[in-house]
Amino acid sequence: MKPSERFAKKVWRKPPKKDSVGHKVPVKSGLGKCAVCKKQITSTKKRLMKDNTKPTKSHTKTNRPYGGYLCTKCFRKQIIETNRASTEA
Ligand SMILES: [Zn+2]
Repeated sequence: MKPSERFAKKVWRKPPKKDSVGHKVPVKSGLGKCAVCKKQITSTKKRLMKDNTKPTKSHTKTNRPYGGYLCTKCFRKQIIETNRASTEA
C-alpha cells in the first residue's frame, strides 16, 4: 500500500453484470489559498483522483507569475512595491 493511500476512502461501484469492485478515493484537496492573506483563490480548481481525466495545468491555476500562489490583491501590491524599489535605487 502506498503511503498516500493509507487514509484513502473506499468507494464501492458495481459495473453491469459484474461483481462490485472497491475503488480507493484519496482525501479531497481543497481550493488553493493565498500565501499572504490565506484567502481562498477562486480561480483555482480542485484536482481529484476519482475523476478519470485530470484538468489541465492552465485550468487548475491562473496562467501568470505567482498564479495559484498569491491572490490578485496581494500580487498587485507586491508588483507595485518591487517596481518602486527598483526605480528608487
Ligand atoms: Zn492574498
